[in-house]
Amino acid sequence: MTDREPKKTRSTAQKSLIRSALSVETRFVSAQELHRTLAAAGHTVGLATVYRQLNALSESGQADSITVADRQLFRACDQNEHHHHLVCEDCGRAVEVGPPGEDWIRNVAQANDFTVTSHVLEIFGLCSDCSRNRSDRESQDPGTAGS
Ligand SMILES: [Zn+2]
Ligand SMILES: [Zn+2]
Ligand SMILES: [Zn+2]
Repeated sequence: MTDREPKKTRSTAQKSLIRSALSVETRFVSAQELHRTLAAAGHTVGLATVYRQLNALSESGQADSITVADRQLFRACDQNEHHHHLVCEDCGRAVEVGPPGEDWIRNVAQANDFTVTSHVLEIFGLCSDCSRNRSDRESQDPGTAGS
């Protein structure tokens, strides 16, 4: 009797499944990583679906999306306030940080005759755990960064 589309229902269920899986993560994760986590928990969701839903969450402002070394990473985020992140480049752990002096962005743009439409600013580094691990590792393995 109802003209409810089963397809739409399924995609809504997948969306909430993916959103809750993402909200468990405190770090930025890739679609592949989240897909693996879902599979391990017994959910059969295609990687393309995970990817599509993550992008939808990001577009609707429910998730942050950043690109690190050509990999797109996602993290659940309810903050509608403009903010930036401190991101651990080893484990993806992230801390949300408030905007710095945003005037600086407008000023440098203005000085170069640009009108600002958007900006991206993430600070990358190592969290305390990873920096401890890395200095342990560095005694045997000299860094491979930079080629
Ligand atoms: Zn955020
Ligand atoms: Zn870390
Ligand atoms: Zn900003």
